Amino acid sequence: MRVMTVYAHPADTITNCGGTLALHADAGDEIVAVILTHGGRIHPNVYAEEARKEDADSSLVAADRAEIIENKKGELRRAAEIIGIGTIEFLDHDDAISVVREDMVDQVAELIAKHRPDVIIADYPQNPAVTNSAHTIATMTLIAALDRAAQFLKNLDGKEEVNVKQVFLGGLPVLTNDALSTYGVRNDLLIDITSVVGRKIAAMDCFASQGYGGPFARKLIEASNGEFGRWAGVALAEPYVRFRSETRSLLPVTDYAEAADPLTRHVSYSQFDVRRAFPVA
Ligand SMILES: [Zn+2]
Repeated sequence: MRVMTVYAHPADTITNCGGTLALHADAGDEIVAVILTHGGRIHPNVYAEEARKEDADSSLVAADRAEIIENKKGELRRAAEIIGIGTIEFLDHDDAISVVREDMVDQVAELIAKHRPDVIIADYPQNPAVTNSAHTIATMTLIAALDRAAQFLKNLDGKEEVNVKQVFLGGLPVLTNDALSTYGVRNDLLIDITSVVGRKIAAMDCFASQGYGGPFARKLIEASNGEFGRWAGVALAEPYVRFRSETRSLLPVTDYAEAADPLTRHVSYSQFDVRRAFPVA
């Protein structure tokens, strides 16, 4: 299977779906990460913090745009190696995006045509003016690009149409697992990442410039993936909403549902301690 991710910033690929990607990499799937912006403005912690110090490191304080961008790319390249992401496509737009742009839609459509992914992972789009602006614009760009790529015609464009089979939208901050709750808005797919969480932590540790390494990586994973794991009945999970409905020949019951014992699963999933298993180096 070919898996593509489309995110606004370099670190999003790891924080949102790094565990899922590691599992697919281990299964032999090809993974392409598309990053729309250079991410220089998002969490520039190390540079902003250094500038406040009296004995500041002059190389950090004087770092220019090119150095900041190249450093962040290096962080993602190292993280990608740990996770098993084979290809990174950096589009290098400025982070300051608040509307969907035709040129970016074209670029993403071209990448869909080039890599022909079976599935794509992106952020769940929320109100762009209230929260998550760049993340939502990235997903709206992707959805427009999906339509554009599906309309490619060899006679007109020199390339054939691409119909991506499914899109998984992550990052919906809704903690409920049944269809009658929260007006039906819920994550309808949970991936158990417990077996690969060490790689997700190591990959997050790479993003030192934005303060994502060390204690933060462990806190985010135990708090967020831990809470979704509680819903999933496992230690740690990544949540998704399926963009399209699925067609099957029979009603599905998952292996997890077959194996789950509601009376004892609270014991098994609560034994995993992220900080004890993966202490800060
Ligand atoms: Zn982001």
